[in-house]
Amino acid sequence: MRIPRLALMAGALASVLFAGTAHAATLSAPAYKPALAKSPIYKTGKLGFDTCEEPKVQGGSLDEVKIYLDVVLDCLNAAWEPRVKQAGFTFKKPSMQVVTKLGGKTGCGPYPAGAQALYCSLNNKITYLASSNLVAEPNDIMLMAVLAHEYGHHIQSLTGMFKARTPYNGKNEARFLDESRRLELQAECLSGVFLGSVWHSLDRQETEFTYLVKNGGTGLDLSAIGVKLESWGDKTHGNAKNVGHWLKRGYDTESAGSCNTWNTAKSKVS
Ligand SMILES: [Zn+2]
Repeated sequence: MRIPRLALMAGALASVLFAGTAHAATLSAPAYKPALAKSPIYKTGKLGFDTCEEPKVQGGSLDEVKIYLDVVLDCLNAAWEPRVKQAGFTFKKPSMQVVTKLGGKTGCGPYPAGAQALYCSLNNKITYLASSNLVAEPNDIMLMAVLAHEYGHHIQSLTGMFKARTPYNGKNEARFLDESRRLELQAECLSGVFLGSVWHSLDRQETEFTYLVKNGGTGLDLSAIGVKLESWGDKTHGNAKNVGHWLKRGYDTESAGSCNTWNTAKSKVS
């Protein structure tokens, strides 16, 4: 059975964090910089990368998980490089480290509790937490989906989106959180673009994907930008329903063009 503990756990974590969030209504959507709302990445069409030879991971060892992530990272690099270049940006691979405990260096401060993975835009590095749950359930599609989400942040970094954000100044919390959710939901959509594109090459059931969609996608990660996000909880990532919506949207369209979260109703990025 492939769905499993890890997915269940992340779903549970998400629902705890998502409970009791107030959704403030705002009258009009603020304008976002062209690097965010009009990125040429939206015009690159379908991802067009259809085969990722996912290694079998059965033993539940850390080494297997590392190998698995390395192979999937290669797939992500091969899939996105042509689209990034097509959009007129310089392509660069992200680096990745797999850690087994909290607190280590990430380039954006110590690895925090509550995150499955972290992308640091200051050094273009993905830090992936191979928790004991994850190592015990290495077949979980979550393993790939989380990495594809972090890679979504890398795309945002390469295309200048992180730099186009409104910086947090201690007072603009609502604006900052709104942009954070749009960034996170976009990364989730870009994860879906990759998953949808390679899905038929994976030996997996469709139900594994629909399970993810229904259970809040990849759950919590951090796209670290030097601001403490943990205390804001799910306000930085969007509610489970919207995370699922954007994941599925990317999966169904296989195109970054469907991931413009900067040009969409507030209700879809709450
Ligand atoms: Zn993220």
